[in-house]
Amino acid sequence: MNFVVKSKSSGNEYNVQVYATEDGPVITCDCPAGENGQYCKHRFALISGDESEVVEADAPVSEIAKLVAGSRLEATIDAMHKQEAVVKKAQADLKAIKKTVASAMLGRL
Ligand SMILES: [Zn+2]
Repeated sequence: MNFVVKSKSSGNEYNVQVYATEDGPVITCDCPAGENGQYCKHRFALISGDESEVVEADAPVSEIAKLVAGSRLEATIDAMHKQEAVVKKAQADLKAIKKTVASAMLGRL
């Protein structure tokens, strides 16, 4: 499957290609991050079903989620979401501790 996405921020267009393999989907993007083998928001948006930046497609975006379901890719995305939640909780905990420290500095404990 081939998708052309147009970045809202830069206006640049990128090609996202999706291939089904025995081990799950392979998804490539020719944006600078994608070409360097890094995490790329264009692919992630399509995997999430976000087609707001799609300007051309030869298949429904929803077909990507079907390929991802049950794949190793899906497991790694789930792990990423879990870790993001851990980080978010840690940031909230740190913020609360800093408030306590600020109160302690003022002798309010
Ligand atoms: Zn990209």
